[in-house]
Amino acid sequence: MSAEPAPTSRHTKVAVIGSGCAGLTAAIYAARAAMPPIVIEGMASGGPPGGQLALTSEVENYPGFPKGILGPELMGHMRAQAERFGSEFIIGDVTTVDLSRRPFTIDGEGALRFRITCDALIVATGAKPKKLGLVGEREPPEGMWGRGVTSCATCDGMFYRGEDVVVIGGGDTAMEEATYLAKMVRKVTLIHRRAEFRSSKIMLDRARSTANIEFALPYVVEEILPDADRNVRGVRMRHATTGEQREVVVKGFFLGIGHEPNTGVFQGQLQLDENGYIVVGPGAGQSVATATSVPGVFAAGDVADHIYRQAVTAAGTGCQAAIDAERFLAH
Ligand code: NDP
Repeated sequence: MSAEPAPTSRHTKVAVIGSGCAGLTAAIYAARAAMPPIVIEGMASGGPPGGQLALTSEVENYPGFPKGILGPELMGHMRAQAERFGSEFIIGDVTTVDLSRRPFTIDGEGALRFRITCDALIVATGAKPKKLGLVGEREPPEGMWGRGVTSCATCDGMFYRGEDVVVIGGGDTAMEEATYLAKMVRKVTLIHRRAEFRSSKIMLDRARSTANIEFALPYVVEEILPDADRNVRGVRMRHATTGEQREVVVKGFFLGIGHEPNTGVFQGQLQLDENGYIVVGPGAGQSVATATSVPGVFAAGDVADHIYRQAVTAAGTGCQAAIDAERFLAH
């Protein structure tokens, strides 16, 4: 048996893991500070490179776009801007990191295995959609992921044109998905486990005033029902207080229940909080806002933020992380 070829190895002053708003803004700032970074763009958020905005439709709250802008288009602009100043991109998923000594080592796999060493690292790996924990959410053959079960209305909505679907959740993600889907499907049933909502009033009102969105409250999804070909044919749910069981016949099951941080590879290397988010700043014993528990490693965007989680705050912390990394290297 032949040995695996050694990974392609490269050294850079600054490496950025993640190519969402935070990672790309960090790359723009680092590149303009004469430290053009290598940006590793993976698919950890459950979709194409570009982070969660690559999976969204209209972004109406990113300053500078009074008429709104499509998420993938915004990410395309950010990437082009990072590239213009010399950032380099590697497509692949990081498999292990060694942050115990400098230079830091990042190993990953894309078209080829790669190894990158760097003097400073910016982690901007974001967060991915949460699941309910039902068998039906698993990949085939056990589950129906991709066969009616999805977490991305923008990517998959068009497959359900004229059909009935459910959206799960009571936050902004669920409202946005339901409103988006309502434009193309026959009917959306929004299932939420409580009668109260976490979403902003404006997005809730928009969903409520959409004629073909029906609210099922408070219901807990018990099972995603398969048809003979193991595609989604419906959902069985239980009323949270009366226990009454109900089935709805739908072709699409859209999850909109929030996200979890992509920090698996950093476990045991960076200080994480109880939900797996990277701890930065004073909480990690650092005076600098984006500094993690390891000097020289900075974190930006949703991977270190379970509170604001906005595109503009992710971009803001990406900028901070690049400035923090630059100062760290200068000293
Ligand atoms: P949130 O955490 O705000 O909401 C998650 C929702 O899913 C909650 O209603 C929660 O129920 C429900 N949920 C979570 N786990 C389960 C479970 N196991 N079973 C059933 N229901 C569950 O996440 P979002 O992704 O909606 O929003 C995150 C942040 O991103 C927010 O700050 C939001 O404002 C922002 N955002 C902004 C958008 C925009 O402006 N265009 C679009 C999308 C998000 P419960 O309420 O009972 O806990």
